[in-house]
Parts: sequence; C-alpha cells; structure tokens
Amino acid sequence: MDGSVGPMRVLVTGGSGLVGRAIERVVKTEGEEREGEEWIFLSSKEANLVSAEETRAAFEKHRPTHVIHLAAMVGGLYKNMRQNLDFWRNNVHINDNVLNMSHEFGVVKVVSCLSTCVFPDKTTYPIDETMMHNGAPHDSNYGYAYAKRMIDVHNRALFQQYGRKYTAVIPTNMFGAHDNYNIEDGHVMPGLIHKTYLAKSERHLTHNHPIGRFLSDQFLLFFFVSFCLVGEEDELTVKDAVDAVVEAFGFEGEVIVSFHTNSKYLYRCFSFFPAVKETCDWFAANYDAARK
Ligand code: NDP
Repeated sequence: MDGSVGPMRVLVTGGSGLVGRAIERVVKTEGEEREGEEWIFLSSKEANLVSAEETRAAFEKHRPTHVIHLAAMVGGLYKNMRQNLDFWRNNVHINDNVLNMSHEFGVVKVVSCLSTCVFPDKTTYPIDETMMHNGAPHDSNYGYAYAKRMIDVHNRALFQQYGRKYTAVIPTNMFGAHDNYNIEDGHVMPGLIHKTYLAKSERHLTHNHPIGRFLSDQFLLFFFVSFCLVGEEDELTVKDAVDAVVEAFGFEGEVIVSFHTNSKYLYRCFSFFPAVKETCDWFAANYDAARK
C-alpha cells in the first residue's frame, strides 16, 4: 500500500457497507490481495466505533498496520435533514475514535473517506480540497458535513504534532451492490433503482408514480456534490440516469421526470451505463437480502 516491506494488516472500518464490500470483492475475489497482506473487514456488529472502548478493543484484537476508514452514519437528504444532530455526534465520535486509536497503536497510514458535501455551499468552480473550509456547507446536511471536515482537521493536527501521514479522499456519489436501497433514507441512485424495481413488479408506474419527483427532491444535495468535480462535458442528465435504470429493468410503463430545482445533471462516471445495469441486476437478484 505504501511501498514498505513487511506484513501488513489492513483494517477496513465500514467493511460491511457499499464501499467496504466493493473493496473486499477486489481483494478477496479478484486476486488483489498480495503476499504478506492480511485484510480485516469490520462491521458495526463487531465493534460500535461510536464507543471508545469498543474501538480500542477492535484495535487491540486486530493490531492493524494500515487503516481504510469508511465507517460512518450515512444517509440521503431527508435522513440528514431530520437527524443533523445524530449525524454530527455519531460521526465525530467514530472519526475521533478511529484516528485516535490509529495513532495510539502506531498505524502507519490511514485513508479516510470524506464526501463532496464537505465543500462550502457558496463557492466558485472548479473546486478542490484547499477550498474545503472556506464557508459553511449546505444547510441540509451540515451535521454530516462538519463531522467529515473535522477528519481533515484531525489529520492535519496529527501531522503537525506527531508527523503522522494520515490522509483522506473525497469521493462523489457512489452506487452499486450492497448499497442502502431504502427509499426514504438512502441516496438517489439506489432509491431510484428500488422504486423502478417496485414499479416493474407492481406494473403500475403511472403519472403519479413519483420517480422523477423522488429524484428532484433529493437534488440539492446530489447536484451540489456532482457539479464540484466534473466538467460540463462529463455531465449526464437526470433523464439519462432514469432512462438507464428503466432500460436495465426493461420497464415499459410511462415515466415522468420532473425537475423542482435548476439542477438537471448527474455526473458521468467512466462506465455509468454498464454500472447501472449491473447494479439493477444485483438488486433484483438480491432483493430479499438487500438493505432497504
Ligand atoms: P454504507 O452506508 O454502505 O456503510 C456504512 C458502513 O459503516 C457499514 O459498514 C456500517 O456497518 C458502518 N458503520 C456505521 N455506523 C457504525 C458504527 N457506529 N460503528 C461501526 N461501524 C459503523 O456507506 P458507504 O459504503 O456508502 O460509504 C463509505 C464511506 O464513504 C463513508 O465514510 C461515507 O461517508 C463515504 N461516502 C459515501 C458516498 C456514497 O455515495 N455512498 C459518497 C461520498 C462519501 P454495519 O453495516 O455493520 O452497520
């Protein structure tokens, strides 16, 4: 991971989530695990990282040399708006515990996951990591956003006082297998996929079926995120995303996409359409067991 020689024990917090399971797939089933490496994928069932004692016990048990820190209270726009206090407190505790224990146990490197909602609501574009603290984040999810920003503060202070080289990445919205498909509390794409799946199963997607509405209601968060990181040529309309999901499920009913804000673009990732199809297929095949 950092070129150093010797056995590596990589602890992945949030190992049971969307990103953690994707890393596990790459490491365990796609042959990326190298000799001398041991990967541990931690879930909240093994250790509630809000608790300092349980975090310490997990570090004592696994003695990691490297940490990929993904664990977080995560949710869509509505859940954030309802529970800013919980997002702030839970995530601040989780992050403080993980970074503090990493330091105490001499972990060589920690890579944490921020989110593009750390960026100021009012900003200029293009945006980069140096602009993270230049103004208040969007009002809807300030609890989550400020807690994520504090990872950057914690990393900087650890470097300043102890020379620790802990860092963070800032991914944009992600989707895929093992996501949270809860329609009320999840992110845009899994919510859209779940609704389309239900519509197809129930064969009654009508004028009133709120797929487009659901998307547009989630826009403030999602499009703020998306606009930060891509050039105009990379943008994808919401209609494109809806079409991709509808096509992936082979849904043939009427679909209405309405816009309640000025934003109408999604980001385009390199293989967006195959990824949508793969995700829809996964969700349909794992409907009973999927988080929703
Ligand atoms: P998920 O919601 O899919 O997974 C969250 C993970 O965190 C789960 O493994 C969960 O464990 C764990 N977790 C939650 N609370 C606790 C706790 N109290 N103690 C221990 N573990 C806990 O998240 P993602 O995989 O989507 O996100 C991974 C990281 O990426 C997060 O930090 C998130 O903020 C960030 N991110 C995600 C984006 C996205 O679009 N998904 C976009 C930008 C950033 P369990 O399931 O066992 O409860």
